Amino acid sequence: MYTLSEGSLDVIMNGGDYDKPILQLLANKKIQGSEGIEKYRLLLSDGKHSHSLVMLASHLNDKIITGELCDNAVVQINRFVTKLLNIVGKGERRIMVILDVTVLAPGAEVGKKLGNPHDWTAESAAGTPAPAPMGASASSTPITLPSTGSGLNNSLISKQMTHSITSPSYQAGESAEADIDDWLTFDEAEAGLLVAGEKGLYFSLLGYVISTNDNVVFKACPFDQCNEVKLVDQENGLYRCEECNKEYPNFKYCLLLVASVADPTGNQRVIAYNEAAEFMLGHTAAEIGRMFEHDKKSYAKVIKNAKYKSYEFKLYSKIESSTDETTFTTTVLNVEAIDYKATSARLIESIKSCGVDF
Ligand SMILES: [Zn+2]
Repeated sequence: MYTLSEGSLDVIMNGGDYDKPILQLLANKKIQGSEGIEKYRLLLSDGKHSHSLVMLASHLNDKIITGELCDNAVVQINRFVTKLLNIVGKGERRIMVILDVTVLAPGAEVGKKLGNPHDWTAESAAGTPAPAPMGASASSTPITLPSTGSGLNNSLISKQMTHSITSPSYQAGESAEADIDDWLTFDEAEAGLLVAGEKGLYFSLLGYVISTNDNVVFKACPFDQCNEVKLVDQENGLYRCEECNKEYPNFKYCLLLVASVADPTGNQRVIAYNEAAEFMLGHTAAEIGRMFEHDKKSYAKVIKNAKYKSYEFKLYSKIESSTDETTFTTTVLNVEAIDYKATSARLIESIKSCGVDF
């Protein structure tokens, strides 16, 4: 009595188009995204195959929260996008983001799984480890963030501070650059992270800085080979580095900028270290350090001016699990002014790929 668009997921997940497929929602899982924004991952079925690398665009969250969209519901997908992601160590995987959906029959009315769908994701990824099905532990671990005050918290910063201030190191044999040509939105990146898991995801993104932390400058160990950022002021003109187990008469300024960045699909907190932070603040670490010590007014202005600017970011997102929580961190690998010519060209390509001719 409910007819699903059998075979439509095959077409879609192979990169093809399918007009308003009718699918069944088999399961959904809440993921605590960055900035406290909840994301829902869906397991969809066309009666023949099921697919779990599906995210609901966050503007549709209400449909789940109100119960309108619940398990077993038969839905018509009015609008969706798919994206082929290049995942380090896993190859290419396609993810689907639902942008508009109509519930044709509520889950309670349908009441059961229709047909006998096989997991498309597992079949298509034969030879490579299939991602854990929904409900299992690995890729579906809920992502929670430490609680945030004004959106940017100190515990995160101090947590970062316990590590040395360096960009994340790449594992040998993995080329970071190769994957960074992937222009993604935050929605797509979050979906991609589900596939990438602990390997993390490299991507480029056009984003807008909404806010930043206030204390961006730290006195770091002056020794080149040491990246310790916590120097203890001995109050006698000397600074002690616990890492080197030594006292120095000088130090160098380091930057750690934690920014809330937005794109059309959501927000994420990103961490920018030295060079990237210098670019976003428009001054060198030494200049900012000097202002922080001697010219608070100029310092405040620099921090204020960091907001409401758009950039091309090269980002690295990673899911990190510890014993008590799973966190989601995004680091700025590089940041540049927007290349409007290239951006327009990309946009035109993407519009063309939707079948629009110019
Ligand atoms: Zn040191």
